[in-house]
Amino acid sequence: MKRIHLPLLALVLVLACLPVSIQAQQLSPKWEELTGPDFIHAIAQAKGVCALPIGIIEKHGPQLPLGTDLLNVRKAVEDAAAQEYTVIFPPYYFGQIFEARHQPGTVAYSLDMQLHLLQETTDEMGRNGCKKILIVNGHGGNESLLPLFAQAQLAKEHDYVVYVFGLPRLEVPGRPPVTDHLDMHAGQTETSHMMANRPDLVHLDRAGQESGADEARLKLPENVYTGIWWYARFPNHYSGNGATANKQLGEFDMKTWSREIAEALRAVKADDVAPRLQQEFYEEAKHPLDTKQ
Ligand SMILES: [Zn+2]
Repeated sequence: MKRIHLPLLALVLVLACLPVSIQAQQLSPKWEELTGPDFIHAIAQAKGVCALPIGIIEKHGPQLPLGTDLLNVRKAVEDAAAQEYTVIFPPYYFGQIFEARHQPGTVAYSLDMQLHLLQETTDEMGRNGCKKILIVNGHGGNESLLPLFAQAQLAKEHDYVVYVFGLPRLEVPGRPPVTDHLDMHAGQTETSHMMANRPDLVHLDRAGQESGADEARLKLPENVYTGIWWYARFPNHYSGNGATANKQLGEFDMKTWSREIAEALRAVKADDVAPRLQQEFYEEAKHPLDTKQ
């Protein structure tokens, strides 16, 4: 009589289960790369958490491509999805960029179009099982638009929750030094990110062809806002000096960025408070006089 070899049996059982788990691990996080049937598994694997990276199409100094923000935010989200699985919506760049309308290649949709398109996009994501949507912003000009959009979700009932992950906090211990003191747009940091992500699209030798200096033409108190402020400071739509970029900084930052997005995805997956309270709020908002005072 043969003895059953227990470790061998365990190994056989593990191997028998493997095709399923390999199949699950191999699902692309990219919405547009999934088949219809695989999409169902992908949403289940993501626990209904989907990511909507938002970039923009605008001039990025004389040295970077128009799609810099779109390319970089998508790379950061794709790397985050490898750490914490999510389904990533296809390329989306319909954000706020009126301040660069005077520059070649800028695509600036009207404000109501931006809001409608974003609402219809999240509605369609929700209809397809994305019950928690993490909008990941890659463009400074969207930093007011996206919280406004998230706030506006309380105006009407939705069966999904919108979360916004704003621009990342990159000043973390161990970061290579940033020597460019303006560095707000297409400067050292952003050029470094693109050098890490798509070096083939960086024309570092052209970074000095235009000035990224602050022209400081508008004199107003700090707490007075006006839309022309950016043009008043940076008419070339370039802030800082891209020539100071380096790949080491870019690689470090891209890692920080994707790690922070992965942490946000994990937190959103674990969050059962926002969906519950949002639903409770919608119910109360239907008859506010009945809300306990
Ligand atoms: Zn940018």
